[in-house]
Amino acid sequence: MHKVIVVGRGLIGSAAGRHLSGLMDGVAVLGPDEPADRATHSGVFASHYDEGRMTRIVDPDPVWAVTAKRSIERYREIEAASGIRFFTPSGYLGISGPGSDYLQRSEASGRPLGAATAWLDAAGIRHRFPFLSVAHDTRGLSEVGKAGHLSPRAMVRAQCAAAQKRGATIIVEAAVAIRAVTGGVEVETTAGGIHRAEKVLIAAGAFTDACGLSPVDLKLRVFGRTVVLARIDGDLAGDLSAMPTMGHAESGAYILPPIRYPDGHDYLKIGIGSTDDADLKSRDDFSRWFKGTGSSDNRRDFQAFLTDLIPGLTRCTHWHTDTCAVAWTATGYPYIDWVDDGRIAVAVGGNGKGAKSADDWGWLAARLVAGEDWDHPVERATLRLPRGA
Ligand SMILES: Cc1cc2nc3c(=O)[nH]c(=O)nc-3n(C[C@H](O)[C@H](O)[C@H](O)COP(=O)(O)OP(=O)(O)OC[C@H]3O[C@@H](n4cnc5c(N)ncnc54)[C@H](O)[C@@H]3O)c2cc1C
Repeated sequence: MHKVIVVGRGLIGSAAGRHLSGLMDGVAVLGPDEPADRATHSGVFASHYDEGRMTRIVDPDPVWAVTAKRSIERYREIEAASGIRFFTPSGYLGISGPGSDYLQRSEASGRPLGAATAWLDAAGIRHRFPFLSVAHDTRGLSEVGKAGHLSPRAMVRAQCAAAQKRGATIIVEAAVAIRAVTGGVEVETTAGGIHRAEKVLIAAGAFTDACGLSPVDLKLRVFGRTVVLARIDGDLAGDLSAMPTMGHAESGAYILPPIRYPDGHDYLKIGIGSTDDADLKSRDDFSRWFKGTGSSDNRRDFQAFLTDLIPGLTRCTHWHTDTCAVAWTATGYPYIDWVDDGRIAVAVGGNGKGAKSADDWGWLAARLVAGEDWDHPVERATLRLPRGA
């Protein structure tokens, strides 16, 4: 019998597992490995099967800004504890036309938290980043120091390794059912196993509702996302060597600089989120989406957007897409709350930007489950399930 089983070995679950194992013995983190072959895989997928996630303090929402800051400040500690590097402080550049106040609001949240920000006009942007083509009325907000990108795959590995060093058990299985029983909670797995614990924390991300894991329907809205990747070869790699992570306020586009992928090539990635994307509900919806190549309209539009912004990318000869999913809650924040009488809790709902703050969401979930004081700048009420959920 474990004290706590964390169901979901992704960005938030693995963080919660590490923090919990610093607070108590008897912690297990349960979840499957990344499938070796998506096409033949019949189980669940995840939102962290990639090499690049943007991370920075500046954000128009102070809740996301403070949780990102607290997470980023622990990255080096997690890397040191695990021996696994996952963070690259490449910096961030947000760009915007005159019609948006997104960057002003981002700076207003980030500056009091110590974000190292600077404003750039169009000439300054072109001077610092000569590979960018921007209109004369473009403004830029840069953050250096604690902004950059993390490898979500490596971060999950690092969190799990650090949790194991603190005594946690890793169980490489997927859950099919979670039941409150006399004296605790049972987790039944696809392999037919039954694991028992005093408490369970569900952190299965976008799959939580589709797998029916929570006793309360979280009513997550889950969208399929298509990303487009350009392979960066030859001289272009040198031209883009100082590229920061980027965001475009009006379109919502986010762009990751060239990052090495497991096939040995460097890829620059763009995504643009919208609610027109595929709405995923059932396990079959997820399976079809993750096995597919995403939206061909997105591929065309994102590639055009990128080559307008970075004209050098017209030299790229290899472009491809990848698919992923994001889970939105009604509040715009993860739900970190009990979903029964104090035995089953959830930490679910990255809202498309859960990677940067994942360590702090895991910290909060761990403290909730361990019965520790909340002791956090974000009010507990902010992360509760809405009444009536
Ligand atoms: C294309 C894309 C780009 C993104 N870019 C950014 C970015 O730049 N910056 C940023 O901060 N965020 C970004 N995000 C969001 C971020 O990746 C997610 O918010 C984050 O992964 C959520 O963490 P999670 O732990 O809730 O979910 P996940 O990381 O998906 O982890 C959930 C885990 O639960 C497991 N699981 C599922 N079902 C079961 C089951 N039945 N039993 C056991 N385990 C199960 C999964 O295998 C997975 O390991 C992006 C997301 C996408 C899709």
